[in-house]
Amino acid sequence: MGAFTDASRVYLLDSLTLVKLGGSVITHKDSSPPTTNTEAISRVVRELKVRRGKLIVVLGGGAYGHQPAHQYGFGDPNTSKERLLAGIPSIRHNMALLSLEVDKAMQDEGIPGVVFSPFSSSQLHNGSIVAFPTGLIQTALEAGLIVITHGDVCFDDTTGASILSGDTILVYLAKELSAKSIYVGTDVDGVFEGDPKENHAARLVPVINRSNRRRVLLGVGSSRAEDVTGGMAKKVGELMKLEDNRPEIAVFNLCVPGRLESLLSGKPVVCTRITF
Ligand code: ADP
Repeated sequence: MGAFTDASRVYLLDSLTLVKLGGSVITHKDSSPPTTNTEAISRVVRELKVRRGKLIVVLGGGAYGHQPAHQYGFGDPNTSKERLLAGIPSIRHNMALLSLEVDKAMQDEGIPGVVFSPFSSSQLHNGSIVAFPTGLIQTALEAGLIVITHGDVCFDDTTGASILSGDTILVYLAKELSAKSIYVGTDVDGVFEGDPKENHAARLVPVINRSNRRRVLLGVGSSRAEDVTGGMAKKVGELMKLEDNRPEIAVFNLCVPGRLESLLSGKPVVCTRITF
């Protein structure tokens, strides 16, 4: 993009925010066939309107991802390559529907969102990213667009196909594009000492830092058997990889109206902050 100088790219890197919309919030996780939580999507998109600077929104798959992934044996090391490959169309179809719904909600609010689907450009090796081009994403951000991307199924040169989770994409993009702030929205207030849905007495951990992180990680589990992307344990593990980048990180409850807006406006919010 000839119109952009190196200086404008530095500005981009300085001002980039990444927001994860948890699948547990934007879909009805127990619905079969999967359905979106249209009310939550509209509200969340309205809260995004206070954003300043560049923004990438990463969607978790929730019911749209987990159901077909489970059905085709993703997450089970004994599943054949043929079966995993056969699952690609259903997962792709579902993620396209979900991302279009968020895209539509953005258009309705006058937010210039555009969807980038990882399947079309990414390559995995045993579940890890070997290629995820970000050049066009940067160009879109520089053009003033809001980038929407999402957990997806991708070709994998060892297994045939693997699930690339929204949480992994979030951290990958945060590193590649030197994000300033990362807000991870889910259906609980943050990271607790134990799963708050199993243990109602579990306390919220306000800050995860060097001194408590090993202890906190021991109390963090996945969400449920059907979740092939690892739940809260995977989320925190992935976020820890940002140690060298040191962005602002908050895990927060996206089901509570106003919390995303407060985070984006720099106001205090109930959440878990991760510092290094
Ligand atoms: P999302 O779909 O929003 O990305 P997940 O379902 O993958 O979220 O993970 C969030 C879930 O992780 C919570 O609903 C909670 O039940 C579970 N969980 C397990 N251990 C913890 C913990 N220590 N603190 C918070 N949540 C936890």
